[in-house]
Amino acid sequence: MNQEQVVVIGGGLAGLSCAVALADRGLKVTVLEAAPGLGGRASSWAEAATSDVVDIGPHIFHSEYHNMLTFLERLGTSRLITWQPGKVLTIASQPQALALEHAPLPAPMSLMPSIFKAPGLHLEDYLSMAPTALRGMEFGEEEVEQLDAISALDFLRQEGVSDNMIDWWWRFAAMVVTNVPLERCSAASLLRVHAQLSGYKDLHFGFGAVGLGELYTDQATKFIEDAGGRVLTSVKVASLLLDRRIDGVLLDDGTKLFAETTVSAVPPQQLFDMLPPSLATQAPFDQFDQFEPSPYISCYLWFDRDLETERFFAHKWSPRRLNYDFYDLCQIRHGWEGRPTVIASNIIYSHRAHGMTDEEIVRETVAEIAEFAPLAAQAKVVHADIHRIPMAIPCPTVGFERKRPPARSPVPGLVLAGDWTRTHMPCTMEGAVKSGFTAAEAVLAERGEHLQLAIPARTYDGIAGMVRSAAAGKRGVPPAPESQG
Ligand SMILES: Cc1cc2nc3c(=O)[nH]c(=O)nc-3n(C[C@H](O)[C@H](O)[C@H](O)COP(=O)(O)OP(=O)(O)OC[C@H]3O[C@@H](n4cnc5c(N)ncnc54)[C@H](O)[C@@H]3O)c2cc1C
Repeated sequence: MNQEQVVVIGGGLAGLSCAVALADRGLKVTVLEAAPGLGGRASSWAEAATSDVVDIGPHIFHSEYHNMLTFLERLGTSRLITWQPGKVLTIASQPQALALEHAPLPAPMSLMPSIFKAPGLHLEDYLSMAPTALRGMEFGEEEVEQLDAISALDFLRQEGVSDNMIDWWWRFAAMVVTNVPLERCSAASLLRVHAQLSGYKDLHFGFGAVGLGELYTDQATKFIEDAGGRVLTSVKVASLLLDRRIDGVLLDDGTKLFAETTVSAVPPQQLFDMLPPSLATQAPFDQFDQFEPSPYISCYLWFDRDLETERFFAHKWSPRRLNYDFYDLCQIRHGWEGRPTVIASNIIYSHRAHGMTDEEIVRETVAEIAEFAPLAAQAKVVHADIHRIPMAIPCPTVGFERKRPPARSPVPGLVLAGDWTRTHMPCTMEGAVKSGFTAAEAVLAERGEHLQLAIPARTYDGIAGMVRSAAAGKRGVPPAPESQG
């Protein structure tokens, strides 16, 4: 019987980062990807009408994406990120836009001077935030269990945050950073990401200067193949082979592939569908069909002229809002400078747009761009591409954090990876790569090699770091934000 050393199911960021980390340790890895191309939810392709490379939807990086950036460094592409170090974000509020910029103050105060200029917020709204800001700095993984049981909206109301501040900031933050409305979001998921975003000095965003997939898919394939492994596309795994341990996989075409270790790097529902019936009823596997998808609709619009807009801007939450985040790709992509504007945007948790035709979505999206960049109202859209994505990330609804499984599964021979596994971070590219590195650690540990590959979150900077250390000291846990749980 031929036996592979390691089979990785799924050629997205989690699967490829795991396979690269194992190839780096000299292992021969076989990656199996069901789709014709690699990259999964962080993939890109040449758009048919324009030949421009577009992503599944625009993605954002930030300066604390240490696992993702280490992965790109290993592949030689980390320089292909367009960073925006000065301005964090422009919020297209009325009567004037609000630029969030870091002032030379310690974390978490550096953005406060900008936030104090927000139109429509008053002194009592800012004061109402103080207890939550403190809770955010004190937040540690040891609190996740308790906070995961309540919604973020209930939590903020309990903490005394004003309705005005909830509508101005928190409903927007919940949609853009957790991809789920505030009333459905786990308080643990939202507070964790709030702590991460406010705890670091000068945290800033970056965007792929090339297509997302161009950052890592071919490079990872070469890396894995150079170490003697294989990367196979259009190969779908039908089920896991179970005999006291997971012995490998059964492919859709009936072929059996035996492996010393099998890594699942697919989303939870797809893993559930692959489980042998005896496993599907056991914890934690019995929960894997309970993760609710957050759907997206991503819009790419090619205009006939320069809209003289910003590289990256966002709209505030409103119940009627379609798109939240907008990216001028001509200010992001290498070689696109000077072209008529191409805007990419995301309709997050897109249920409200599902009944709309592509033409209706384009019309509404142009109107939303024109609220910030008035030239869009006169401009012509020469081409539009609308991507409907049924599962962008699993929704971090109440109870989500407790369902996330660790990399080591209870069944020998099976290791789990993917943005949805227990990474102590939101479901993001950074989370996916961290899960890939953590899964590689688990594979190596099964072989007797004990290494740390995944990079934990840094201790917070400035006052945020001091408050977190004091809170951790009181609770008797180490001060790093993710050291428990
Ligand atoms: C539109 C959009 C915008 C986003 N924006 C951001 C952002 O701004 N910042 C950010 O950090 N993250 C963002 N994300 C999230 C990020 O893309 C994901 O968290 C990450 O790509 C998940 O990677 P993964 O490897 O865990 O899963 P996936 O990318 O889903 O990879 C799983 C792979 O497994 C394959 N597969 C499934 N079933 C099988 C099977 N039976 N056999 C073989 N292969 C199989 C799939 O085809 C897929 O390629 C966004 C996602 C989307 C869709």
